[in-house]
Amino acid sequence: MAAENNDVMEKVVSLCKRRGFVFPGSEIYGGFVGSFDYGPYGVELANNIKAAWWRAMVQLEPNIVGLDSAIVTHPKVWEASGHVGGFSDPLVECKECNTRSRADHLLEEVGVFADEKMSIEEINQIFDANRDKIKCPKCSKQNFGTVSTFNLLVKTNLGNFKNDWSSDPAYLRGETCQGIYINFKNVLDTTRVKVPFGIAQIGKAFRNEIAPRQYIFRKREFEQMEMQMFVAPETEMELYEIWKQKRLQYYIDLGFKPENLRFHEHENLVFYAKAAFDIEYNFPFGFKELEGVHARGDYDLSQHQKFSGVSMEYTDPYTNDKYIPHVVETSVGLDRTFLAVMSEFYHEDNLGGETRVVLRLPKQLAPIKVAVFPLLKNKPELVAKAEEIFRMLSKEIRAEYDDNSNVGKRYRRQDEIGTPYCVTIDFDTLGENPGLLDTVTVRHRDSGKQERVAISELVSKLK
Ligand code: ATP
Repeated sequence: MAAENNDVMEKVVSLCKRRGFVFPGSEIYGGFVGSFDYGPYGVELANNIKAAWWRAMVQLEPNIVGLDSAIVTHPKVWEASGHVGGFSDPLVECKECNTRSRADHLLEEVGVFADEKMSIEEINQIFDANRDKIKCPKCSKQNFGTVSTFNLLVKTNLGNFKNDWSSDPAYLRGETCQGIYINFKNVLDTTRVKVPFGIAQIGKAFRNEIAPRQYIFRKREFEQMEMQMFVAPETEMELYEIWKQKRLQYYIDLGFKPENLRFHEHENLVFYAKAAFDIEYNFPFGFKELEGVHARGDYDLSQHQKFSGVSMEYTDPYTNDKYIPHVVETSVGLDRTFLAVMSEFYHEDNLGGETRVVLRLPKQLAPIKVAVFPLLKNKPELVAKAEEIFRMLSKEIRAEYDDNSNVGKRYRRQDEIGTPYCVTIDFDTLGENPGLLDTVTVRHRDSGKQERVAISELVSKLK
């Protein structure tokens, strides 16, 4: 983050709204907590983030294949995974204003560690010992009830036509990886993969988060990009270390500053896990989890074997050894990556004596790669040429045509949405200066420098 002030979050949120990246969900109805919509530039950026992840995780990885599994599955999937019984966060309610908060987050704010993996008795003990320090985030009073557990799974009646389906629900998936586990056999039997191999998936997940906050960092409906690698038990930790490093490097290769990323080891491991590290990003509100990298043992496949009765055993084709594969997981939120990208590449600088906001997005992530302007919108010959160039470019790269107000203002707008190049068609393009016939001005976002480029070379130059 280059802007040297601590209100970057406010600036990013305002830019996202002003320029059509992110809108509050259901805004005309007063909003809907934990829900956001991606606008025209937001959906382009989100799609580019997903494409970058898919390229790194599927296209460039010979042993990883893709999947798109159903959002609503057989309810037993969530019993097997442990979500029906145990996917809960510690909830505490303020007796003064009824605001519900996550007890572990309130404790974290006063410097006391607790997490959702602790027993509810343990959290209550820690909470009680610190009541004098903890204030309600809404009314600042210190009158809380006892901490209870709240299950985050979102219930639905899909496929259930009883009038009261709540006792016999299906679930919106709480994470995308269960769809991967239940397709392990299908992928194994229908493709040429051999252990170790991975299955990658991008998709929506739903959690009834008690207190969604920090903008799109914690939503109730969000998107995950997950990869589950199925490995032989004795190679689990070696592959885990490799993936931990690969995933950190991924962000650096995307253009993130290394000092804005760090590993954080989980203090508390679930009973089956061998190791769990988060990759944390230095969000405007501090270092927080961006991605989880986990060594999960054989828990996931064993559970599905137990609940479905279908064998998840793998036979090694070389040694004939039989075992249930262990899992190395990498799991990142699209929305958190989006926020990290906006924060990382948001800059304010001075160009030609003017302060400007510029999103210095890596080219592959920029929503629009090139903007095409006629110098003046009331000169039909300029407009016709600009439209012709726009049509030519838009077949090759994501382009936008802009003839609003003057060129200076168009540059500012494109800087704010992170467009790497602006192309202006002027009278020289049409041959007013014969030496410049069929050339255009290309202006570079980061330096503001301009150069004259032949139309015939434009596509190769911009690509
Ligand atoms: P947290 O501790 O912040 O609640 P988590 O450990 O429960 O996150 P995981 O279950 O490991 O998260 O999910 C993997 C990734 O999915 C996270 O690293 C995060 O990027 C993303 N994610 C999880 N919950 C949310 C959410 N409510 N909104 C947006 N992204 C989320």
